[in-house]
Amino acid sequence: MPSAPLIARIALDIPVPRLFDYLAPGISREDIGLRVRVPFGRKELVGVIMDLITDSSHDPHKLKPVLEIYRDAPALSTELLRLLNFCSDYYHYPLGPTVMAALPTALRRSRSIQIKLASAWQLTTAGLNLGTADLPAHAPAQRALLDRMRDGQAHAGAALAESCTSYRGIVKTWVSRGWAIQISQPARLRADPVTADTPPQLTPAQQVAVEQISTAFTSYQAFLLHGITGSGKTEVYLHLVAAALERGGQVLLLVPEINLTPQLTGVFRARFPHTEIATLHSGMAEGERLAHWLAAAEGRARIVLGTRLAVFAQLPQLALMIVDEEHDSSFHQQDGLRYAARDVAVMRAQQQCVPVVLGSATPALESWHNARNGRYTLISLNQRAIADARLPAINLLDTRSSKPEDGLSHALLGAIRHRLAAGQQSLVFVNRRGYSPALMCFECGWSAACARCSAKLVLHLRERQLRCHHCGHTEPVVHACPACGNIDLKPGGFGTQRIEDTLIRHFPQARILRVDRDSTRKKNSWVDMQRAIHKGEADILVGTQLLAKGHDFPRLTLVGVINADSALYSPDFRATERLFAQLMQVGGRAGRASEAGEVLIQTQFPDHHLYRLLQRHDYAGFAASLLAERASAGFPPFVHQAVLRAEANRLDTALDFLRKAHDAAPLITGITLFDPTQASMARKAGVERALLLVQSPTRKTLQAFLDGWMTRLYALKANNIRWNLDVDPLEI
Ligand code: ADP
Ligand code: ZN
Ligand code: ZN
Repeated sequence: MPSAPLIARIALDIPVPRLFDYLAPGISREDIGLRVRVPFGRKELVGVIMDLITDSSHDPHKLKPVLEIYRDAPALSTELLRLLNFCSDYYHYPLGPTVMAALPTALRRSRSIQIKLASAWQLTTAGLNLGTADLPAHAPAQRALLDRMRDGQAHAGAALAESCTSYRGIVKTWVSRGWAIQISQPARLRADPVTADTPPQLTPAQQVAVEQISTAFTSYQAFLLHGITGSGKTEVYLHLVAAALERGGQVLLLVPEINLTPQLTGVFRARFPHTEIATLHSGMAEGERLAHWLAAAEGRARIVLGTRLAVFAQLPQLALMIVDEEHDSSFHQQDGLRYAARDVAVMRAQQQCVPVVLGSATPALESWHNARNGRYTLISLNQRAIADARLPAINLLDTRSSKPEDGLSHALLGAIRHRLAAGQQSLVFVNRRGYSPALMCFECGWSAACARCSAKLVLHLRERQLRCHHCGHTEPVVHACPACGNIDLKPGGFGTQRIEDTLIRHFPQARILRVDRDSTRKKNSWVDMQRAIHKGEADILVGTQLLAKGHDFPRLTLVGVINADSALYSPDFRATERLFAQLMQVGGRAGRASEAGEVLIQTQFPDHHLYRLLQRHDYAGFAASLLAERASAGFPPFVHQAVLRAEANRLDTALDFLRKAHDAAPLITGITLFDPTQASMARKAGVERALLLVQSPTRKTLQAFLDGWMTRLYALKANNIRWNLDVDPLEI
């Protein structure tokens, strides 16, 4: 009997929950994880070999063969494929698109990749056996070079140049004597030169944290590193990274924002000047991203810094993962595979038996809950690392008794004036970009709305435009009310531009710098602004949360907060959690060095318990009160949720689909299935949106339900609608 033909199961970027079978002559099990080119309908697609089998459910005579197998990049490892399989199961998203989304774009194209090579030199056995006596007596350069190369590794020219600028001539001679060989290897990642730093003495609390986490190397453990702003979490990371590198491991560090990576890369390069560091984020050019991905995948880059997508980086010697600012919402991917990178990191740590450290001054309530119930190990840093740096005093300005003028109260203006006189910086935090969140007619109540979204248009006075922040629609500013003809339209509320104007009016001499997504849109402008702030070239900063995250501005001693109250009456049950985190974070910018800091919050509710706890810097107290509220209301983390979303041109179409989905739900006890409803933002970019919420007290029950439900959902007719499932949704 002839042996059955080998069949490869291929992951393709096709949104159906199955793999595709192809004949696989000449392909072996070692090739699992490699990319292939296959015919698909009239097109050709790139996919990844997931498995090899001999009995397909399809007639082998009808299967088409794999057209090409790419051996230019390392195969996706068993570990990574296992992680991707898990994510596909857990988030109920098809495996093919899950796998393909983990690859950098360059590896998703149907052509081989070009790898940049560079010369490197390596000592031969003869070279390794050289003694100092074999070198000329007065040749410090040669000695330095020999020392550098004694590890027997291949060293790139750039690395040798660090030991000896005249290395070229020397290695050439050594090659001719048979002491060294020249080879080609992938070029080192491009990096600007840095000056090495000297690690500071750890504080006792940092020391304890480093020791406790270091004992967990080689096994899975999740740590929640809760450290107040300025407590020196970064220094803890640096020491842990050093420990992991010493063991020969690779480290993955996830950060919330692309904006933070250059700064952090600088810190890590100064500490580990000889270690190759890869960065991975969506703002990188395709070729650059590929080079960094490969450096990580081949184990050359020992440290990988990146945003959420880096959680799927291939890391053959992964020894430690760190998620900085783990509470940050940017770790959530909101389309395609909807995942939370922090949770995926924890799962990956479990699968690969390595420790994972989640760091934050204001952990996500879910993480805090996990630390309280023992799933995570809590480590606290309760003091600022720099001995005389105090936490800022937080004061509330009651806007009922003292009305702000053009957004800023008398007391806040006075405080800013005071800092100006003292040559210190102030920051005014406004959580809205643009001039004003609305353009209104106070005669009839009309306000400018987006025709394509259920949202108001934001007035951008600088650009003379009304803009929708949800769909990007823009239109010119109208000058008369379309409803009643009134020509006296007024802005309603305050955005960064308007506060900037108020500041300019009050402080015409001051150097005022606005930092928001509009003013930092150009490449590098934010980096340039940070430099200017550091050099003291700005007196007053006005900006959104861009300013709140992770930056260290030593001259900043005052933070003013405008408009915080709106979160207190938001329908989103996570709004207060976010507000507290944001205020802690932005407040943490004040007085980081030896200068004491002050935070002034304008509010109508100075007695609100959120502000009271904030004044005491009491995250734990706030978390306890929120957890109690969530427990009694039956909200996460006490229930686990998933949301089925549907989008269509007409709301009825979307709701109809969800009603059918509701009827198709398997009957499982412990599941609460709500009725289909409009999304809180019912229309976005011309599309009507509806949703169906399902929840359960246990993750396991929810997953069992979703397993059964999804099969039925794929079988439903879904004409003219798009649907997706969001597991552990951040917003409903
Ligand atoms: P966090 O990330 O916890 O807010 P950082 O890591 O930014 O805090 O540290 C705050 C400041 O303290 C930084 O300026 C840092 O250089 C400094 N620092 C951290 N650890 C030490 C230490 N052990 N000794 C002296 N300074 C330290
Ligand atoms: Zn009107
Ligand atoms: Zn819109």
